This record gives sequence, C-alpha cells and structure tokens, in this order.
Amino acid sequence: MSNDNFPILIAEDDAVTRMLLEKTLIKAGHEVVSVENGQKAFDLLKESFFPIILTDWMMPEMDGLELCRAIRQKENPGYVFIVLLTAKDSQEDLISGLEAGADEYLTKPFNKAELIARLNTGRRFLEQERALRQANEKIRILSITDPLTGCSNRGCLNARLPQEIQRAGRYNRPLSIVMCDIDHFKKVNDTYGHQAGDLVLKEFSKRLKDSIRDKVDMLARYGGEEFLVTLPETDLDGALHLSERLRRVISEKNFDVGTKKIKVTASFGVAGFDSGNAGDEISFDTLINHADKYLYQAKNEGRNRVVGGRLGV
Ligand code: GH3
Ligand code: MG
Ligand code: MG
Ligand code: MG
Repeated sequence: MSNDNFPILIAEDDAVTRMLLEKTLIKAGHEVVSVENGQKAFDLLKESFFPIILTDWMMPEMDGLELCRAIRQKENPGYVFIVLLTAKDSQEDLISGLEAGADEYLTKPFNKAELIARLNTGRRFLEQERALRQANEKIRILSITDPLTGCSNRGCLNARLPQEIQRAGRYNRPLSIVMCDIDHFKKVNDTYGHQAGDLVLKEFSKRLKDSIRDKVDMLARYGGEEFLVTLPETDLDGALHLSERLRRVISEKNFDVGTKKIKVTASFGVAGFDSGNAGDEISFDTLINHADKYLYQAKNEGRNRVVGGRLGV
C-alpha cells in the first residue's frame, strides 16, 4: 500500500523543525500537511481526516499532550496514529506522553531513519485496521442480504420497516408495502427442477428491483417465493399503480430457464396509508397482516392480480 493512503499532519511551532520534518517526510514519499500548533491541527482534523499525526509537545494555544487527549476524546472516522516528537526526554515525560494517547514517543534532535521507521509502524497498524474495517463491512452486508437473490433479507426488513413506519408517522407521510408471491411456484420446481426454480427467483427479484426506486424503495425476500416491497412516500394509489406495473413486468415476458422459456405470474397484496391518516397508530404487524390478507384475496380471485386497501381513517 502506498504512503499516499495515509497523509500525515504535522503540528510544530518551530519553523525550522517544521520545514525539516516536511522535507524528510516528503522525500520518504509521504503526503504532508503542516500547521504551527495543536489547536490548528485539531481544527483541521475536524474538516479532513488524517490517520497519522506527528506532533511537537511544547506549542502555543494547544500543546501536543492536549492535542493527544482531544483526539482520543473525539469520534474519528478511523484510528489516528499519533507520534509525539519532543525535546522533553525524561522518563516521566515519556510516560505522560503515552498516557495522553501518543502511540510513539521520539526525542529531538530526531534521527531521520528512525522517524521514518516509526511512521512505517503506524502505517502497518493502519493497514490492519483498514482491512478489519473492510472485513466488518462485508460481514455487515452479508448479514442483511439474501444470498440467492442479492436483495435484502427478512432480518433487514424487520429492522428497517419499523423505522419507515415510525418516520411516516412522525412526519405525517404516506407509506405503502407490497407483498408479492409467485403463483404456482411449486409447479416450476416440480416440472423443471429446483435449480430452475432458483433461476426464476433470481430473475424475478431482478425484475422487481429494476422497477422500483433505487435507494428509496426496499425489496426484501420475505420467504421462499414471497417478496416484500417497502414504498416510502407512496400512498395506496401510487402503490397500486406500481404493483400493476410489477405484475406486468413479471407476466409479460417469459423467463429463461436453461434452453426453455416459461411463463411466470405473481399475485400482489398492497397495504398503504396516506399522509396524516393514523401513521403513528399503525404497527409493523398490522401493515404486514393487511398486505397478507390482500395477497390471499388476490390468490383466491384467480392469481396474477393486484389487490389492496387503505389503512387508518
Ligand atoms: P401459490 O400460487 O398458492 O403461491 O402456489 P405455490 O406453489 O407458489 O405455493 P407453495 O407455498 O405451495 O409453494 C412454494 C414453493 O416454493 C415450495 C418451495 O419448495 C419453493 N421454494 C421456496 N424457496 C425456494 C428456493 O429458494 N428455491 C426454489 N427453487 N424453490 C423454493
Ligand atoms: Mg515547540
Ligand atoms: Mg406462491
Ligand atoms: Mg408462498
């Protein structure tokens, strides 16, 4: 990994030392920004993130130890590796520096090679931290994703739909959900095999996903061949309209399964409430139960259709 990924912020009040540090670090391939006291370093850190800070101790306004403590108390986007570089060289000083939150403690006059080596220690540490953060993010995404279709899973829906209901209630906004279930899906499995069934599920969810608003609406796999679409800022009429479009997107074009093309249809149950009508009294279960009831009705009335109703007054 190149040094460019970890820009260094230098805080040093002595202009000569500051320039020497800048020169040394730039020569070693580091990206450097320098300021003349701790306060300026701290202010700059609020605007842009610096994963490595090289700071003097004795400076006007905010000294290096105060800077260390301020950084450790603050929430940062990632770990800040702090190197304290100071003329204070007693053992008590060193302990105070480390206790204030410095990761490395170097004394002046400094040895260039040692400074670079210490900064490399910091870089290795930050690379590990970054890798760990990326791995955590991957796990987080896996934990809310359905592995077959790539859409949100039920756990994600259970966490997000109540938030949407709460938000709609608080701001008096409309909200709708659409429960959809593939018609006679068991027959697809029985006729073409389970793998073909999986391909249909993937294509089915892709068609739905492509027909809803990216980042606003949420498609979740609710069960085996049952999906739930959450439509924030959408009243019942809007949701019925969209569901009709989804119905057509599924039924009007046959699905490719290997060399065969098969006709797939789905039924849709829609539940929604308009702005200002009882949003705060509607629970997750009520909304789901209503959508489920209308889906059941759509199935009974012959499948491949949309049925819905309004909640509240
Ligand atoms: P209906 O029109 O009443 O909804 O009939 P249906 O056959 O679609 O409903 P039913 O609930 O009887 O069958 C659902 C089938 O979905 C049964 C189950 O094996 C299948 N299924 C569930 N999850 C998966 C999956 O991940 N892959 C495949 N291939 N099939 C699945
Ligand atoms: Mg100084
Ligand atoms: Mg079904
Ligand atoms: Mg079903």
